[in-house]
Formats: sequence, structure tokens, C-alpha cells
Amino acid sequence: MTLIIVLIAVAVVLVAVTGLYLVTNRRAAPPAPTSAGPEEKGGAPDRELPEGSGAGAGAAAPVSGEVAPTERDGPALVSGPAVVVEEEGPPAPVGGEEGPAVVEEAPPRLRDRLGRARSLLGGYLTSVRSRDRIDESTWEELEEGLILADVGAVVTAELLDDLRATARRDGIDSPSALVEALKAELKRRLAGDPELHMADQGTTVWLFVGVNGVGKTTTIGKLGLDQVRAGHKVVMAAGDTFRAAAADQLEMWSERVGATVVRGGEGADPGAVVFDAVQHAAARDADLVLADTAGRLHTKTNLMEELKKVRRVAERPPGVVTEVLLVIDATTGQNGLIQARQFTSAVGVTGVVLTKLDGTAKGGIVVAIRSELGIPIKRVGLGEGPDDLVAFDPDEFVEALVGDGDGDGAG
Ligand code: GDP
Repeated sequence: MTLIIVLIAVAVVLVAVTGLYLVTNRRAAPPAPTSAGPEEKGGAPDRELPEGSGAGAGAAAPVSGEVAPTERDGPALVSGPAVVVEEEGPPAPVGGEEGPAVVEEAPPRLRDRLGRARSLLGGYLTSVRSRDRIDESTWEELEEGLILADVGAVVTAELLDDLRATARRDGIDSPSALVEALKAELKRRLAGDPELHMADQGTTVWLFVGVNGVGKTTTIGKLGLDQVRAGHKVVMAAGDTFRAAAADQLEMWSERVGATVVRGGEGADPGAVVFDAVQHAAARDADLVLADTAGRLHTKTNLMEELKKVRRVAERPPGVVTEVLLVIDATTGQNGLIQARQFTSAVGVTGVVLTKLDGTAKGGIVVAIRSELGIPIKRVGLGEGPDDLVAFDPDEFVEALVGDGDGDGAG
């Protein structure tokens, strides 16, 4: 009997211990996944009007659901409600489950990407180096190479005059020493402040100007990535309200790099969009606004007037415009110089971003722009990918363009 009582007692204790164990374990276990996915995915991303909104003041802000339609009836330059598309958190890592938002690539090697330019000018200079003395035909060969590389007739003439003076002064008598002197002269002419400056106080605004198709939007995307990586909180302003695709493109980039985009309806007042972006940035403690602008309006005069207005609006406190970056497509050669003159006189360009250097033999346009306009080249575009924008380093550029004597080119 005693034995039976003891056995029952042991059984009761065992049942109690097992029950306790199961309860404890269930509490510690994570919730089972549901087919609906994580809770956070249930809600639409926040979209709201910036506080103190100029363009959108008084209009109801879409707070959820799809991005507000961009097609707006009514006349051009009528402001519509600005829409903010937030991109929360840092850019997704490479090779993540959701696909690579930002590809961490090794920076493109300037030398490899300047293939066509390199094979042209590099080829001429290799030929000069292989001569056994300097004579008039040496100078003619240099001239031809520089002009074909799009340095331009005026700058080429100045450059060669300076080079002749240097050769006389320094007693240069070998063709290879002459090429070295030319490289030094090119580096000297290309030197300039490559920094992109932030304001000491207020919200920094960098305006991007340039004709259609040169690569403004793409450059904003690439630079946005660069600045997010540098620790800045970035807002992109879709100021090219004349092309709905431009705002879509910017929105895509903002998602890719972890920035926020503020956009207006098609035909909205670009100044108002930029104003809203600055207000939004200030309200969210974002320190940098990258503002896209239209590259084409009905007439050129209007475009320049519009850009002046955008700049004035962007300067309204707390906005501080520290950079007006003229984006130039290197493949357009000397046309780029004409554009540069127009934009510079209208909006006071602080620096040039030269895109598409990867696809052109006309790399000499860099020298023409720097020499003729005195505007520093700040960045160069070497491809369409997020990492294909590099700071402009004259030494590296000239070495990559002219080579070190192998003159092999890349294609
Ligand atoms: P926007 O009209 O000035 O905003 O020009 P987009 O940014 O839309 O660019 C026009 C085209 O040029 C797009 O197909 C870009 O991918 C391309 N692009 C921009 N920068 C570069 C570059 O550095 N190299 C190459 N190869 N293509 C570029």
C-alpha cells in the first residue's frame, strides 16, 4: 500500500514537472510565422506632406497607400501637393534576401573606364614618345591629338604655347620629356577644389542643373548613396516636374540608397517642390537636400529664369545653397562648353560633374571646361551603376588619360 502511495506521488510530481516545462518553453519560443508575413509589412509606407509646406499647404497629404498620381490637369507651373516618400533605415546590404538595393562594388578604376579617351590621346602621345627628336611635326602631332580629344582649338593653342615656353626654359629636348611636361601642364590646369561643401548652419542644398539626358538624376542617385554612406541624412527633391519619369527615377534611387524623396505633381512649380524638400529636411533633421531640376522647358530663356527662381527659393532659410552642380555629358564634347557658359551666367555654377566619360574619346573636354570657365570639376561619371561616380583627381585623371608610356588604350 505504501508502495502504491509512493508510486502515485512520483507520477504526480512527474506530470507536474513536465507540464511546467512545456509552459515555460512555449513562452520562450518565437511566434510561429504566419503566411501574412511580418506585421511591419502590413502597413503602407508613410507618406506625408512636409511641415510648413509651401507647395502643398492646405492640401490633404496622402498618408498611406500608393504614391499620389503625378498627372495633374491644369496649367504648367501650378503647384500640386508635394509627396514625401520615406525610405526608412539604411540601404539594404548586398546580396540580401530581398535583392541588392545597394551594390558595394570596388570603385571603378579610372584607367580602365577611360578606354576610348585613353586609346585616342594615349595613342598620339605614345607616337610622340617614340620619336627621336622634337621638331615641328612633333608639335603638330600633339596639336592634332589634343584637338581630336576635344580639348578645343583655343585651349590647345594656349596649352602648346605654354608648353613651348616650358620646353625652352627647361631645355627639354627629348620627346618623352616633352610628354611629361605636357602631363604636368594638364595637371596644373585641371587642379581645383574637388570638395562638395556643407553649410555650417541650416539645411545644405545642392542644386543639379544641366540639359536633358546628361545624367542629372542618375548623378543625384549616385551622390545620394555616397552621402548616405558618409553618414548624412539625405532628402532628394524631384524638381524636374516636367517629366514624370524623372520623379519616378529619383524615387527608385532614393529607395535604393536609403534617402527620402519629395515630389510634386507633373507640371508642379519646381521651386515649390524644392522649398517643400528643404522644409521637410529641416523638420526631420536631415542635413542635405539634393535637388533635381528640369533640363528643358519650352524655351531656353524660360529654363534659365526658372532655374534662377528655384535657386532663390532654395536659399530661403533654413536652406543654404552651397553647390550648384552643372552636369555635362562628356560625349557631347564642345557642346558641353556652350551649355556650361549659359548655365554659369544664369545660376552661378560652383562645380561640374562630367558624366559618361566611360563611353567617349572626348575626355579632353575636361580641360576645355576647366580652362575656359574656371569651374572646378568635382565628380566624374564612369558608368550607370551606383558606384560609378568618382571624385575628380587631376593627377589620377591625367595619368589614366595619357598613360605611362604603354599607350595601349583599352579598346
Ligand atoms: P537627366 O535627364 O539629366 O536626369 O539624365 P538621366 O539621369 O536620366 O540619365 C540619362 C541616361 O544617361 C541614363 O540612361 C543614365 O543611366 C545614363 N548615364 C548617366 N550617367 C552616366 C555615366 O556616367 N555613364 C554612362 N555610361 N551612362 C550614364
